[in-house]
Amino acid sequence: MSDETIFALSTAPARAALAVIRLSGAACDRALAALGVSVLPKPRHAALRALTDPQTGALLDEALVLRFEAPHSFTGEAMAELHLHGGLAVIESALAALSAMSGLRAAEAGEFTRRAVLNGKMDLTAAEAIADLIDAEGGAQQKQALAQLRGGLRHRAEGWRERLKTVLAHLEADLEFADEDLPGGIGQKALNALPDLHDELAAEVGDGRGLRLRDGVRIAFIGPPNAGKSSILNMLAGRAAAIVSARAGTTRDIIEVAMLLAGVPVTLIDTAGLRAAGDDIEREGVRRAVASAEEADIVVWVSAPDAPPLEDKILTQRLADADLHIANKCDLAPIEEEGALSLSAKTGAGQEALLAALQERALELTGSGASAPVTRARHIAILRDVLAHMAAAQNAGALELAAEDLRLAQRALGRMTGAVDVEQLLDVVFADFCIGK
Ligand code: GDP
Repeated sequence: MSDETIFALSTAPARAALAVIRLSGAACDRALAALGVSVLPKPRHAALRALTDPQTGALLDEALVLRFEAPHSFTGEAMAELHLHGGLAVIESALAALSAMSGLRAAEAGEFTRRAVLNGKMDLTAAEAIADLIDAEGGAQQKQALAQLRGGLRHRAEGWRERLKTVLAHLEADLEFADEDLPGGIGQKALNALPDLHDELAAEVGDGRGLRLRDGVRIAFIGPPNAGKSSILNMLAGRAAAIVSARAGTTRDIIEVAMLLAGVPVTLIDTAGLRAAGDDIEREGVRRAVASAEEADIVVWVSAPDAPPLEDKILTQRLADADLHIANKCDLAPIEEEGALSLSAKTGAGQEALLAALQERALELTGSGASAPVTRARHIAILRDVLAHMAAAQNAGALELAAEDLRLAQRALGRMTGAVDVEQLLDVVFADFCIGK
């Protein structure tokens, strides 16, 4: 355990009804006493106490004070929480008083959770889930983060590791007791279990639903100039986020709007109108439109009766490859196009059907947090490592060599939860944490 006691404002640094300062470490009770709390509240019992400045004796606030004794706390250390009135002066003065105490220092970003991991209170996937839960913008992300926080991903990783361990145990038994009464070839037989696990993990790497749920689904609208892409985006976003103009080729750059669809965070991307001719700036706009369509998870092709037809073969092909085709401006002329969703961004006709189609695809692409998918590039990198070691084991030829590869695979998988190499992994995992977590 660390002998430094840390503190931080764990609520947002803004004027509010309440502000919570957390402390963790052996000096918590001493800090409370210094703040004038002469009768310490019982652990886990909130008590109202006057807090005073240790140096001047001035009253800082009337606060609710909570204590937790080690190891029964979030970090596993002694902890205290000061539930202050959320005024900026109160927060400032309380933090200043804590800063002035010896043996106390301000916490670094993610340091509370980091200590929780180091003290065995949670594994790395749970720590990541806390970050995801705090960042969750929609119900689907919230569900995913909570499933991961409650051990969904850890259980799966441990299950995979257990299966590797079993294979390895059989190999080792085969090697060690080769001369004894073991059923012949148990090592080789055990290796036969690898392809199934390999396929399972490879499917996990290829899936991408967890990553998409965490990062959001990108939906690009492409089509000829004036088809109504910006108008559709504005209609969906319910606000004037993109520039709507009757002049062709106004949207030369990419405009993005973030919103939630069925609890899934999505980014709507308005692109420049696709057309072959034009000046340099316009050609650059078209190039970016095509590039953003390539990066998008869902590509929506927008056409309209009065929009110029495309002459460019490559661009026409891109439209044909889109996931969804909207025939816009159905108010101008009734549109009966095969497989197209007829819409009027002007009157709103067809809006519900468009939303439903986009929602369905967004949920399909994210799995809507149903299972406990891998959600981060870190997880994918680990699984790739594991797969490489497993493939090496299968091709090793000699059982000794296969056993060594499996040991490496098992080790790599242990990094998912932090069962292995936890110290080295902390910096990666906590890179995007904020202060007070
Ligand atoms: P973009 O270039 O594809 O982004 O097209 P805009 O959204 O800028 O729209 C081009 C023009 O078409 C504007 O004058 C819009 O007001 C008009 N427009 C867009 N959608 C509709 C529609 O559904 N019906 C009608 N009648 N006009 C529309």
